[in-house]
Amino acid sequence: MKYLKFICSKCGNIFAPSGGGVFYERDRFSQAIQFICPDCSKEYTDKWTVKSKVFSQRNIGFIENLVTITFADGRVIEDIRCSQINGKIKLVDNTCLPEYVVAQVEGDIE
Ligand SMILES: [Zn+2]
Repeated sequence: MKYLKFICSKCGNIFAPSGGGVFYERDRFSQAIQFICPDCSKEYTDKWTVKSKVFSQRNIGFIENLVTITFADGRVIEDIRCSQINGKIKLVDNTCLPEYVVAQVEGDIE
């Protein structure tokens, strides 16, 4: 039997998994999995929880689909380009957003 130590990639603390599992994210460049402790994951989810997403369109010679995201803490990111194909929403350029946000925005059109 081996013991796995979880080390938070944000604060460096060693932590034990809580009941709900362990948050992680992938390093943007190496794609390595980085674990995040409960304290940092709470801070993270508080910051990045999507409260509302409003879709719109803009005609710039062709129709561009956009989404404006409002976060739980009131921050707003306006006019992120997205596609709406076969009933699915996909962000066109999601490199500026954490995976956690992308997962809350992409998916079936409601
Ligand atoms: Zn941490």
